[in-house]
Amino acid sequence: MTGDRIVTAQGLNHWFGSGEARKQALFDVTFALDRGSFTVLMGPSGSGKTTVLTLVGCLRAVQAGSVRLLDHELLGAGEAALVALRRRLGFIFQAHNLHESLTALENVMMGVQVHSGLPDALARQAAAHALGLVGLSDRIDYLPANLSGGQKQRVAIARALVGNPALVLADEPTAALDKDSAAEVVDLLKRLGRERGTTTLLVTHDNRILDRADRILTLEDGRIVRVDHPARDAGSPDGPGSGGLPFLPPAT
Ligand code: ADP
Ligand code: MG
Repeated sequence: MTGDRIVTAQGLNHWFGSGEARKQALFDVTFALDRGSFTVLMGPSGSGKTTVLTLVGCLRAVQAGSVRLLDHELLGAGEAALVALRRRLGFIFQAHNLHESLTALENVMMGVQVHSGLPDALARQAAAHALGLVGLSDRIDYLPANLSGGQKQRVAIARALVGNPALVLADEPTAALDKDSAAEVVDLLKRLGRERGTTTLLVTHDNRILDRADRILTLEDGRIVRVDHPARDAGSPDGPGSGGLPFLPPAT
């Protein structure tokens, strides 16, 4: 392992609602993600998976406990710091959330331009490259309506990866897919993560994809009740690859 910690969550507690309706959703959740690791967070519906993912992803405020993300403490962090951190993450959701009026290429360009203001020509180049990596070079000018579910989710992966994020957070990305497309999407996420040294946290209750994880954290009723390490693939020695060339020049 590189020993690099991308995320350290410690003693995380979280509540929703207030007064009588106040309900605790997470209890003392503790885990760490090393650079380049591929971790699956599993558990039944309502167990707290999305809550964990949104806390790590700076999409909601940490209430109690600690999350260190890319060497920044999220407990008590201000909105500006959270926004800056969010830009270093890639998100993939169950619904692909593609803009229906934009082509695959334009959708992926948004993933890099929204934050960086990169000139069109460079964004186009980066987006085309990312679509190539997910095997969609021949579909770059297609609208989402003309792509299959698996292809749309691959566009969403390209959009999440085009900015070269340190951490990819995926919430039920295979829920709407058939078995083969689901396996394809997860394998792709895993392979790209390994090649590029990206860390991935994938939330699912889809146990068709469990054998693909380096590590599985199981949540039940807001608590981590198990940690499993499925056998490593033959082709996976000690950790991530050296990481490919970034899609984009390093930020200045
Ligand atoms: P999962 O993603 O595993 O299905 P969630 O993290 O979405 O679970 O939810 C965990 C618990 O927190 C559930 O009991 C859910 O009802 C509750 N919860 C989640 N989001 C909210 C919210 N915005 N307001 C109130 N309760 C919520
Ligand atoms: Mg959820």
